Amino acid sequence: MRLKFWGTRGSIPTPGKQTVRYGGNTACAELRLSNHELIILDAGTGIRNLGEALIENGESVKAFILISHPHWDHIQGFPFFKPAFVSGNDLTIVGGETDKVMLKKMISDQMNKIYFPVQLNELKATVKFRSVKEEEIGVFDARVSTIYVNHPSFAIGYRITHGGKSLAYISDNEPFDGRVARAIRNVEKTVIDRYSHSKGDPNQRIFDFVRNADVLIHDATYTPEEYVDRVGWGHSDYLFTLKVAAEGKVKRLVLFHHDPAHSDDKVDDIVQTCKKEIRNRKYKFDCLAAAEGMEIEI
Ligand SMILES: [Zn+2]
Ligand SMILES: [Zn+2]
Repeated sequence: MRLKFWGTRGSIPTPGKQTVRYGGNTACAELRLSNHELIILDAGTGIRNLGEALIENGESVKAFILISHPHWDHIQGFPFFKPAFVSGNDLTIVGGETDKVMLKKMISDQMNKIYFPVQLNELKATVKFRSVKEEEIGVFDARVSTIYVNHPSFAIGYRITHGGKSLAYISDNEPFDGRVARAIRNVEKTVIDRYSHSKGDPNQRIFDFVRNADVLIHDATYTPEEYVDRVGWGHSDYLFTLKVAAEGKVKRLVLFHHDPAHSDDKVDDIVQTCKKEIRNRKYKFDCLAAAEGMEIEI
């Protein structure tokens, strides 16, 4: 598989001189299977440039878009994804939903006339929806498994296995522990139940989910100092991110969902600190930070 990042930022786009190297667009990555079939991870603002590239190549687009959750930074680019405006293209949007709000509504509400001039049913491409809980589904000839992670309302992590290799994508996730207890009231009950009933470390199910992945993309929004004041916001500090990678025995870790307040230099610092921690703790995996335009062979 081949992976390319089109958006690496969390929360809100951050264009400007301070974010040129790691990028200012919100979450989006392109995953090509060995036969070039297209899976898109999240539809943050990065998907706009991916759409431009697909149109430029003259490709007819048949793609699955795996949405982690409907916070703006993961769906906001979809109305600007040009292949959705081309008849003959075929898009399947995969994601979770709640008892109250269906997946289709989560995507289409942001295109309500009040917010956007073109409605979902006016798009020329065929757009289908496939809601998922915790399960395994086939996408082209890849196996895609899903897990609820710890994030306000809900968020889904994906693991894509194809050709003997696997990629785990957990864009937004917070360590589940006692400190979070007061903050999880906003999380769907179905998610809380899964964590609070597990024995030992409640994050064990995350460690098991990413076990032996060739590449793990994981939330590393905060420094440990920043996290103290942001418990319950749904994100990890990089020490927890390292722990997930170590416990899961992954081969490569990609730090993702950079905080909007972090400049390129700050992200460089975080990577250097993580590398030092990895050496000190004798972890075995490699660590890098996601950057717009970066490509990884899996
Ligand atoms: Zn996010
Ligand atoms: Zn979120």
